[in-house]
Parts: sequence; structure tokens; C-alpha cells
Amino acid sequence: MTAHGIPTPPLEEIGAAARERAALASDLARLVGAEHVSTDPEARRRASRDMWPKTFLWERQGLEPPLADVVVSPGSADEVCEVVRFAKERAIPLTPHGAGSGVCGGAIPLSGGIALGLDRLDRVLRIDPEALFVEAQAGILGIALEDALGDHGLTLGHFPSSIGCSSLGGWLAARSAGQSSSRYGKIEDMVEAAGFVLGTGELVRPSRPAGGVDWLELLLGSEGAFGVFTDARLRVWPAPQVQLPRAFRFRSLDAGLDAMRAIFRAGLRPSVARLYDPLDTVIALGGGSGKESRVEDVRVDPGGRPPGLDALRPTFGGAAEGDDWRRLLEGDAGLGDIASRLGVRARRLALDLGLSRATVLNRAADLARACLLVLVHEGGYGEAEPEEAEARALCAARGGVDLGSGPARRWLHKRYDVSFGLRTIFEAGGWVDTCEVATSWGRVGTLFHAMRSAVSPHALVMAHFSHAYADGCSIYFTFAGPALQVRDGLSSYDAAWMSALKAAAAAGATFTHHHGVGLFKSPWLADELGKGGLELLRELKSTCDPAGILNPGKLALAEPKGASASPREATRTRDVDCVDERAMWIRAGADAPVSAVEDRLRRVGLTLGSQPPSVYRGSIGEWLAGPLAGRRAEDGRLGPGVASVEAELADGTSFISRAAPRSAAGPAVSQLLLGGGAERGTIRAATLKATPIVPRFDLMLEGEPGAIARFLVAESRDSMAPIEAILRREDGPMAATVVYASGGARYRARLGRAIAAARAVGLSQVHVGPGDEIVEGAERELACETWLETIEALPPGVCLRLVRITRVSAVAICPAEFADLLPAPLPDTPPWAS
Ligand SMILES: Cc1cc2nc3c(=O)[nH]c(=O)nc-3n(C[C@H](O)[C@H](O)[C@H](O)COP(=O)(O)OP(=O)(O)OC[C@H]3O[C@@H](n4cnc5c(N)ncnc54)[C@H](O)[C@@H]3O)c2cc1C
Repeated sequence: MTAHGIPTPPLEEIGAAARERAALASDLARLVGAEHVSTDPEARRRASRDMWPKTFLWERQGLEPPLADVVVSPGSADEVCEVVRFAKERAIPLTPHGAGSGVCGGAIPLSGGIALGLDRLDRVLRIDPEALFVEAQAGILGIALEDALGDHGLTLGHFPSSIGCSSLGGWLAARSAGQSSSRYGKIEDMVEAAGFVLGTGELVRPSRPAGGVDWLELLLGSEGAFGVFTDARLRVWPAPQVQLPRAFRFRSLDAGLDAMRAIFRAGLRPSVARLYDPLDTVIALGGGSGKESRVEDVRVDPGGRPPGLDALRPTFGGAAEGDDWRRLLEGDAGLGDIASRLGVRARRLALDLGLSRATVLNRAADLARACLLVLVHEGGYGEAEPEEAEARALCAARGGVDLGSGPARRWLHKRYDVSFGLRTIFEAGGWVDTCEVATSWGRVGTLFHAMRSAVSPHALVMAHFSHAYADGCSIYFTFAGPALQVRDGLSSYDAAWMSALKAAAAAGATFTHHHGVGLFKSPWLADELGKGGLELLRELKSTCDPAGILNPGKLALAEPKGASASPREATRTRDVDCVDERAMWIRAGADAPVSAVEDRLRRVGLTLGSQPPSVYRGSIGEWLAGPLAGRRAEDGRLGPGVASVEAELADGTSFISRAAPRSAAGPAVSQLLLGGGAERGTIRAATLKATPIVPRFDLMLEGEPGAIARFLVAESRDSMAPIEAILRREDGPMAATVVYASGGARYRARLGRAIAAARAVGLSQVHVGPGDEIVEGAERELACETWLETIEALPPGVCLRLVRITRVSAVAICPAEFADLLPAPLPDTPPWAS
């Protein structure tokens, strides 16, 4: 009997299937070479599995999840195109397989067919240390990519715990997050362009800045159901020169959460911010108080890698197959399993009880109160120290007891230990899984308590709060459940998950922050998207994969059409509603003037930030439907952008996207309505992300246009990019006012860096700049690579203003009569969808 309700075929059919398989393999061998095609049962099994714990429960019960018929490993993007075209012509299902570390069953080929292995596409194509980007093929393992960057003194800043056993393509397909996402963002913040083979066999290359509908954003998170990532271009950072770990103990979870929120609200971006719940705190501190002696910096060599990554090397030698990892988890190596995380006493107790008294253990855990916060600040010398000092003061003001660097250093050194040891727990008859949800700061405490009480009757529950941003964070739960009888495992597993996700949906949280949807979370995707969202998802699927061959049965595409839209109180379209001051989100009707929204925000010390003048002149609806929709966050700092869209689709169905700081709930379908997608529906309201108003400092400079352009490009790559810049070319040199946020020591240090950088390129500081001149007229999103050319072409006496500066682009504004200076807007429909 197979799992997932598919019965085993009779023996004679199996014989026929084997003959068909052999014929299929020989056809595919003509495309990629016989040595890269396999019908061997073990190879098929490996390519048909990931690390979803439920698979182990199935297998323990004698159930076999579906297998691919044949495994194919193309050696180039062209070969991927050929294999996909072949599958399309013959209507054979095809499921991409990265490194197989997914934890939701996404790589299981529900209808058999071809498993497309990406393992041969494992090369770094180009590293540009000047322009700070890397191009690599999709099958490369994370650790190999980070190693290659380390050789150039660079880092991607993406450190999932699975870095040794997950691939770049898998990260893009499942919207992965690394442990340092609070500073560097999730994978979707890092990727600038990608090679993507559609279900038609056509290779497309969506890139940013998009200017209009952001097609790359619509393919990220598509989990192999829209196409195959073959390669990507990602932005990278100089490797940190210093890392400053520090830990604090708070008397309660609320106090710890308040400190975490205050840190991100202040604009600080520690690479790690991790708050343990009381039970996890007891385990992390080994039952002690955690008070450590001296505070020390952990200095990292320039070009080196963070402590902890090296620990993977002896095990994997930089060339591990995903399956080695699986073997380690299942086998004797037993890496840092949950049992050892539970500590000696608790482990014995938990296993002695066969985890069967989860409720008792959960109640015992209720007695604990204190919470541990681990912070790691990093960056260049002089950059991390003031940030760390400010975070320390914010923690102290909330009663945080400084534990020194000890507990945080321990975490750093164990950061890649696998956080669930299948063997010990599964052999003891139990199961373990992890669940990561996300919501805004105002709701996160309630969400934690609701999910914990919902799961408590079924499993032992503990959690930490991490992946923090300006507007909220993720909660990462670990559930460990009992299985006194083999069947109990499946039922307690299903019951725990069902109650957890029901509680998350009731609290308005997104059901996944970075593990994605896979097989078993499909119904929750349908719930989160509602009927309208599912319609948009289906539209995308039929655009990208008209024959429906790719990873069939995933991403809720098989769900009944009637999924209901999440209920939400109707908004009158001119209303402005301050929704959530803690998350800095504001909900407004589409007809509300942006200026009214800004007024409302300013009353509570917030702003939509530096936007082009046309935005402030128009309505929310016009802004979001126009080409300059403030849709994309940068580098994890989630500047002004869109948290949620409420729309009426062309057929009258309503669509409401769930507001979340970050989500991995499939492709971001709401992007279809932003930036020019008016024909798909009408935006009725939106929840926008705001940012605190900060004092500003004008740095006035003078010099050659080329030097100014180079200076601005370099400044845009600093972790604290300028707010905006105004440039005017006089007869001689060019004058520039570059506007920075200002305030305490951290900002002074930032300004110091800017002044030194200006001097280094021959710019001089002056007392008069172009000032606050109002520049209006033509507005265009301008990619950083074109700044030099545009700035050098600026005629004397003409002002150019750059707002919404990110390391990828800025919005450039100049008088209408000089509009030709700016590049033409990009088309908003990709060629393959016309
Ligand atoms: C021990 C452990 C720790 C983990 N820690 C983290 C963590 O810290 N952060 C995190 O984000 N995740 C984590 N994960 C989950 C997992 O590593 C991620 O989901 C990862 O993104 C999967 O990558 P993969 O290459 O293994 O993809 P796979 O598991 O092979 O595939 C995942 C999905 O993506 C599709 N896919 C794979 N490659 C491609 C491609 N090239 N083109 C199109 N579709 C493709 C597959 O069809 C499947 O639907 C962890 C997993 C384990 C086992």
C-alpha cells in the first residue's frame, strides 16, 4: 500500500510499469546521456524523498510514499529545457529535486514520472567583488557557495541550519531564510535575477528592478510547480570583520519580546536575535542562570566565515549529497538531536515517559518564567560596536540581565547542529517536527500562547522567536510527540499539526515563514489565500505551466475551487485606519490620499518615507497600481512597502492577502495586482508598512560627477544606506546633498564612514549644496548600474533627485523636459505571458 491514499498496483502492472520505465529512460538518455538517467529503485527513492518527518512515520507503518519512475540529471540549462519540453510533449509529470532537505514533502512526486535532479548544476559562474554579486547554478549546495564567496572576502549572509544539505534552487523555490535573516534578509531579498525554465521548456530570465509587475517575486516560492530554477544572480556583502555575541535574561516572555521589538524599531539589525521561551531557556542554560564572566568579542578574520560553519566541513567535505545528511540523521552519527537539546535530565524523563505525557511536561514547563535572548551584532570595525551598545541599553531598560557573551557564543558554535534528531526520538517510538509561523509584534505573544495551548494535549511544545524584522517576527516551534503504538505516531502528529495551524490561522498569522508549503500544508495555503488568491495562483500556474506537468498536486492547486476568502471587515475606500502601531502598519482604502495617510502616520511618529512626489500627490490605489508601487523590501530591513492587499478581482471575487512580516506561503500572488496589474482586479484597500521618523543630516559634497556617482553606488551598499540624494551640475563641478539618518553613536559612526569614503574618491565637503530643492517631473526606477551614465549626462543647472535608495536601484526624479535622461520604463508583462 502506498501512502497518500494511492493503492499499490497488482504485480503484472508493476512488470509493465518497469518496461515503460526502461523505454522512458532510453528516450531521456538521448537528451542528457545514459549515465545521467537512472531507474534504479534506490536512486528513485532518494530522488523522491525529502526530510519531511511524516515520511518516516509512514515508512514505520509500512506505507510507501509515491516514487518517481526515472531520475534525470541534466548538465546545463539547455538540457533542462529539453527534458521539460520532452515531459510536456508526452504529458509526463516532472518534479524538480534540489538537495532533498525540504521538510514538508514538496519533492515527493505524487504522480510519479520524472524526478529532475539539479545536482550537476553545481557551479559558481561569476563572483564580482566590486559590484558585489555572485552568479551560481541552482544545484550548488549552500556551503559550497559560501565557501567560494569566503575566498573573496564576501558572504551571501544566508545561513540556514541546512546549509550543508540544501541547494540554491531549493532556497529560491521554497523562500528560505537563514539564521541571519534579520540583517541580510531572506533569499527573496538577496536574489536579483534568475534563470527559470517554464513548463513549456522555455528559459526566461526575470530580474530586478522590475518597474511594474515584479515577475521574479511571482516565481519565488513556486516549489517546482511553475518551473525550474537553473541559476541565479544574488547580491553579496563583505564578510563581517567582527561579530559581537551577547545574551540577556528577562524575567518574562513579554519583557523579552518588548526588548526585541525595541531593538528593531530603533533600526538596529543584529544578524541574530533569538528569544527562547521559558522551556527552551531552561534547556539552553542547562538549568543554570547563565550568568557568564567576561564579555569578549569574537573577531572574525576578513574573508573568514562565522564560527560554526567549519564544524560541517569534516563531515561533509564541502561536497555532500543531500542523502549523506539523511543518513546522518537516521544513522549513528546522531547530530545534536532534540534529546540532547532537552538536556540529560529532561531527556531521560521525556523518553522514559515515551513522550506520552506531553500535557504533564507542558504543564511543568509552565512553572518556568525566565527567557534567554541571544543577540549577535556584526559588520565592519566601528560598525557593530555602537549597534551592540545601543541594543544593550534597550535590553537593560526592560530589565534584561546581561549574561555576557557565553551563552551566545555557545549558540554560535552549535548553530548548524541539526535541531531534530530523528533517530533517538523515532526509535523511542516518538516523533519530532518543527513549525515556523510569523506575525506582527502586536500579535506575536498571543499567537505563541494560542498555538502552545492548542498543541499541548498532543505533543511536548517549545519555541524560540527569531527572524525578527521591524514589524514582527517568526515563532519557531518544536513539537515532540508520543507513539506508544505505531499508529499513534501518525494520529498525534496529525492532531498536533492540525491544532497548531488552526490556531495560527485564527490568530491571523502566516502558517509558514521559511519552510514553505510542500505536501501537507496545501490546505493551509488555500485557507491563507482564500478563493481570490487561489484564482491568481491558478492563473500563474496556467501561464507558466499550461500542460500542468510540473510537481502536480502541490501548492493547493488541486484544492476545490470554493475555498472561502478570509473574512475581513469591509473598508470604505477613503478610510484611513491606523491598524497596528507596534508593527508600524497602516490600513487605508484605495481612494485615500497618500498625503492623508502620511498625516495620520506622522501623528504617531511614523512615515511612509522618502517617496517620489507623484506618490504623495495621488491616492493609495494609484500608487499601488502604478509603476512605482512600493512593493519590495530590501536587505531584511523592510522599509516602507506593502504588507497586505485587498482587491476585487475581474470576476468579482474578493482577494485579501494575509499581512505578515515575511512569509513562505507560496509565490507572492498579490504582486499580480501591484505595479500595473489593473486588468486582473481593482485594489480596494491595502495595509502599508511605515517606518519611524528619524532626524536627518545633510552631507554636502562637491566633485566630479563620476566620483559622486561612484560614491553613491558604494553608499547604497552600506547596511545603513542614505535616505536620498539631490544632485546639481554647475558649470564646473557637481554639488550633491546626500541625506542620512542621524542620532546617536551609531549614526555618528555611519557619517564618519561616509565622510571617509567621500574623501577617498576625491570629493570635498562644502557648506552649500543643492539644498532641499523640490525636484518634480519625470520619475523612473533606476538600476544602480546606470547611475554613473545618468549622473555624468546631467546638463548644467539641472537637478536630479534620488529617493528610495536601495543597493539595487533608486527612484530618480528630474524636470519633465529632461525625461530623456532617464531610461524608458520596463514593460510590465513578461514576454512569455503576452
Ligand atoms: C536539518 C534541517 C535544517 C533546516 N533548516 C532550515 C533553515 O534554517 N532555513 C530554511 O529556510 N530551511 C531550512 N530547512 C529546510 C530546507 O533546507 C529548505 O526548505 C531548503 O530551501 C530546501 O532546499 P533543497 O535544495 O533541499 O530543496 P528540495 O528539498 O530538494 O526541494 C524543495 C522544493 O523545491 C523544489 N525545488 C528544488 N530545487 C528546485 C529548482 N532548482 N527549481 C524549482 N524547484 C525546485 C522541489 O520540487 C520541492 O518542491 C532545514 C531542513 C533540514 C533537514
